[in-house]
Amino acid sequence: MRLAAALLLTAAVVRAAAPLPLGAVPPGKVFLVVLSHHDDHTWEYGFGGFIARLTEAGWAGYYVRTTNDEKDSRVGWGRGDQINLREAREAIGHLGMKDVISLNWRNDHMDSVPLAEVRAQMVLLLRKYRPDVVMTWNPWGHYDRNPDHRKVARAMAEALYQAPLENAYPEHLAAGMRPHQVRQVYYTQRSDYGKGHTPNIAIAIEPRHVEQKGKAFWAHRNVYDTPALARQIREELARRGMAIPEFDGLTDEQAIEKLRKWQMEWASRETGKRAGVAYAEAFYLVDEWDMLPGLHEYLKEHVAAR
Ligand SMILES: [Zn+2]
Repeated sequence: MRLAAALLLTAAVVRAAAPLPLGAVPPGKVFLVVLSHHDDHTWEYGFGGFIARLTEAGWAGYYVRTTNDEKDSRVGWGRGDQINLREAREAIGHLGMKDVISLNWRNDHMDSVPLAEVRAQMVLLLRKYRPDVVMTWNPWGHYDRNPDHRKVARAMAEALYQAPLENAYPEHLAAGMRPHQVRQVYYTQRSDYGKGHTPNIAIAIEPRHVEQKGKAFWAHRNVYDTPALARQIREELARRGMAIPEFDGLTDEQAIEKLRKWQMEWASRETGKRAGVAYAEAFYLVDEWDMLPGLHEYLKEHVAAR
């Protein structure tokens, strides 16, 4: 019953959380999602609904999977790596994204890769794809126990600072690329791998986006198709004289799929309550002009009103 206990605990944390202002879809046409593993964007703390909303509005989105995910499998490392890449492509298809870019660093071993090398890859990707929006791990959150998450968070934050600088990686400029400043960065962090982070904005999503993120999550069957978990929950509840009526007549395979969909829908609904909408996702946004305090307010008062 560790799962049920975790769900209850998460519920308590979310309900106690402060209200969040609602953000709008930003201007732009290209976004880059840079995370560590094949499934990081599809979790309840991820970007699935926001991604679906942007692609529906005509944006082009690319998913950067930094590791090879060899450990995320029950069928052996090499075979798991191949299945996970295939399922990652299926998942981004459900969300309307264009491609998966695999950097293929060894899963759980990113600490042994020089930070400068990962950062250089990220700067190159920013200058190649020139995104208006980036979604990635929050480097300013509390400790995240996953080493690949921490490595990508730090490398990406530094790359976002260096990509606009002409003196950073001049070989990119010699190869025909130009410096690039990202307008908006949306950060997230897992809440169950540490104390999480403090979001400052919510993005409303529609039921169809919740459905899409549920499908994208379930596309990673190599990791989440765990009928043993459904069986464990049923047996534990039966011992206490309890049952989940919606599971009646379902196989353990069908029950775990239903449970995962509930999980996704529930998390989006709880975040929606914080922003006064049916469904939402919460992020820490670093907006353009944030490095120039007061300019946001000036533009709102003096320019937007014209
Ligand atoms: Zn991960």
